[in-house]
Amino acid sequence: MAGKKVIKYVYSFGAGKTEGKADMKQLLGGKGANLAEMSGLGLPVPPGFTITTEACARYYKKGPKALFSSIESQIDNALARIERSLGKTFGRGPKPLLLSVRSGAAVSMPGMMDTVLNLGLNPSTVKAMITLTSNERFVMDSYRRFIQMFGDVVLGVDHHDFEAELDAVKKKCRATLDTDLSAEHLADVVNRYKRLVKKKTGKTFPDDPRAQLIAGIDAVFKSWSNPRALKYCELNNIRGLLGTAVNVQAMVFGNGGDNSATGVAFTRDPSTGENKFFYGEYLVNAQGEDVVAGIRTPQQITIKGSRKWAAAQGIPESKRKKDFASLQERMPKAFKQLDAIRVKLERHYRDMQDLEFTIEDGTLYMLQTRNGKRTAAAAVRIAMDLIKEKLITEKAAVLSIDPNSLDQLLHPVFVKSSEEKARKLTSGLPASPGAATGQIVFSAEEAEIQAAENRPVILCRIETSPEDIGGMAVAKGILTARGGMTSHAAVVARGMGTCCVAGAGDVKINYKAGNLTVQGVKLKRGDWVSLNGSTGAVYRGQIATVEPKLSGPFGKIMRLADKYRKLKVRTNADTPFDTRAAVRFGAEGIGLCRTEHMFFEGKRIIAFRRLILVAETVKTLRGKLTLAEGEEKKVLEKALKAPLKQYRQALKELLPLQRKDFVGIFKALQGRPCTVRLLDPPLHEFLPHDTAGQKEMARLMNVKPADVKHLVESLHEFNPMLGHRGCRLGLTYPEVTEMQARAICEAAAAVKGSKPEIMVPLVGHVKELVDQKTIILATIKAVEKEKKTRLNVLIGTMIEVPRAAMTADAIATEAEFFSFGTNDLTQMGCGFSRDDAAKFLGEYVERGVYEHDPFQVLDRDGVGRLVEIAVRQGKKTRRDIKLGICGEHGGDPDSIEFCHGVGLDYVSCSPYRIPIARLAAAQAALRG
Ligand code: PEP
Ligand code: MG
Repeated sequence: MAGKKVIKYVYSFGAGKTEGKADMKQLLGGKGANLAEMSGLGLPVPPGFTITTEACARYYKKGPKALFSSIESQIDNALARIERSLGKTFGRGPKPLLLSVRSGAAVSMPGMMDTVLNLGLNPSTVKAMITLTSNERFVMDSYRRFIQMFGDVVLGVDHHDFEAELDAVKKKCRATLDTDLSAEHLADVVNRYKRLVKKKTGKTFPDDPRAQLIAGIDAVFKSWSNPRALKYCELNNIRGLLGTAVNVQAMVFGNGGDNSATGVAFTRDPSTGENKFFYGEYLVNAQGEDVVAGIRTPQQITIKGSRKWAAAQGIPESKRKKDFASLQERMPKAFKQLDAIRVKLERHYRDMQDLEFTIEDGTLYMLQTRNGKRTAAAAVRIAMDLIKEKLITEKAAVLSIDPNSLDQLLHPVFVKSSEEKARKLTSGLPASPGAATGQIVFSAEEAEIQAAENRPVILCRIETSPEDIGGMAVAKGILTARGGMTSHAAVVARGMGTCCVAGAGDVKINYKAGNLTVQGVKLKRGDWVSLNGSTGAVYRGQIATVEPKLSGPFGKIMRLADKYRKLKVRTNADTPFDTRAAVRFGAEGIGLCRTEHMFFEGKRIIAFRRLILVAETVKTLRGKLTLAEGEEKKVLEKALKAPLKQYRQALKELLPLQRKDFVGIFKALQGRPCTVRLLDPPLHEFLPHDTAGQKEMARLMNVKPADVKHLVESLHEFNPMLGHRGCRLGLTYPEVTEMQARAICEAAAAVKGSKPEIMVPLVGHVKELVDQKTIILATIKAVEKEKKTRLNVLIGTMIEVPRAAMTADAIATEAEFFSFGTNDLTQMGCGFSRDDAAKFLGEYVERGVYEHDPFQVLDRDGVGRLVEIAVRQGKKTRRDIKLGICGEHGGDPDSIEFCHGVGLDYVSCSPYRIPIARLAAAQAALRG
């Protein structure tokens, strides 16, 4: 059509002009963009082309036919470029061009989508390749690999069926390893494979290279929506991508003999972040998939790394040199070149890189570079080191770390003495750090079932594959018998922050029998084992754990975060113990001290139940008294006496206990502010609902069990979350507010420098606040007089009822601070019950109604709007009103960014999320 703009769907690299760049990830995918960038840098990249993610989107929108009709000529042109640059021809001799076809989305999704290698082989090109290479065995091996991959990925024949054919040939000729098979054996495998394809699909295996190529590209696009890829996106919260790109690249062979190899390397240690030596693994005479699949355990690329590895495995130096030599020793020239590329790429990308390379008959080729996945410990160390090396700025370092990943650093490690006493069974590779204790399971499904019952599980597999991802996500630890540091298990576990020991070769797993044997010890499903992912040790039984240290690079990055953040970070804590932990993590105060938890401990629950028992009676009699006169009044006054005494007695018993709690907390805070929330939950939450419990309560309170039962029934509410709770309790039972205010004030008088902030919950109308404030103010005054001191107490409210948000201007006339209770504000704002919504919210998120669970990530458009209104209205009335958030969102990075944007003063979260919040707050400030 004349004048119609042709959309460019195909970008060439390494073949003359390179058309892409690193910053084109959205269009070319991560792999494609970086291949183009490396080509641009003059690195040895086999030529190829990338079909864009836009093509993938079109594939899904218009269908394969429409897409291919618009991209075929672009593919042909790009293919011709490769042919020209290599002097090879696709589908013909004398020098046939073979291709790899790989997926590559904008976000790296290791092993989640499909790959086809050696594409272009058929009987005629096989012949030409044999003439060309004089290596029939290698060519036949490549051919059988191609049929297997193409058969599996494109034609849908199960790879186990191919394995069975291969095993049958191996058995027939008594070969143990694939490498023991001769060219003739492999020709036999090829014929069997072809027969298998015919049997399973009813069609002959395609010989036409062009048809192979189109089908290969089609299969990669299809794999974008396979269940593994979808699950990976779901687990990693990957959304909004156009699709995958397809990278078609000239094949280079690492499996052409002993002068060829393939490997994966990290420019720094991905577990610790150390930059002591070039960290990588390789296999001689192998294709790339062999390294990541974990089928053969690879060797180290440097001498240093190799020696360290051998020492851990107890292998003497002479044997190491002979059987497990490093790349540096075996292929020094290629190693030197690779080492120089390492430095060049790190300098260029200013980050740790994850590289894939192949050495074909002594010549090095780079197949991939990307920012390497790393543990949180490594991320922190690398960021701090890169500042020192002047490769990045402080700000870039702060922005380089995923706040949620810090969680990995805050988790326990083994108690040293307990670990020393534990029975060590064996060791494997320290694939992902941390400590894990749990019960053995042998499949991902089992892991998911057991974890759903809250059992800690250790997933034990010979090796893992992408199908295992669900089970890996819920396991406390992962143990594999095969595979290296870059095996699927290792890479995925590091990304998830799950402890993993990989390649523990002594462990013999028998899936059928449901057991494993290691060093003569047989362990069955359900038995306890412990893993040390930092050393690779595997122990029998359970081992105690300790909290991690927060010093070194971690402390430094936290100090940097503090330098750049504007938001303060407080904690939600209601015991001195939690408060001390929070202060260690950097809490600048308490943003929410939920006082109800204090009523459950030991004897207190008895006093509190006694109070509830008589509170109703007192309330009723008082109501009547206000109207009564004369004789009736006297009778009522008499009737009130006993319950009132009991009521006061219960309050009297509770007061010192509450005061003691506050003293402990104020001391732990050492002058930091503390927002104490008055009693919030409905009273029936404190009563026993079972018959035995009610009988016991009746015995202790000296009443009939029927009275307790009656009380429980009378307090029953159909919708307790919207019932008699929060300040509504304070309005009905003012003495409880008074007792709590007194406990806080007396504790503040006892601990110098305390800064209590008394917070009234669930206010919806300013008059509710006025009512409670009157009691609190009177109590402050009374305590000041009694203790002859001045107290520094603020009075404020939670904003957690939509009405409060909408009338924040009025509420601010009384409140000195607002703390957004976004748990309730979400409940009431979205109309989702906090107790019941989990049943259907998953579906809401899956269908994209809400992008995230609004109880985890603040719903900016709805609940966020309420927060914005309240902030604006509140500031209009009281310019310096203190603003914070204490719902669960206070520890969520995305919500923290929102809080920064609307101008809150602080966020408050559970102690273990404080470092995450500190970093997220800094990132929000730096992003502006
Ligand atoms: C809230 O509602 O956000 C809140 C912090 O209070 P709670 O979760 O105790 O209701
Ligand atoms: Mg609440």
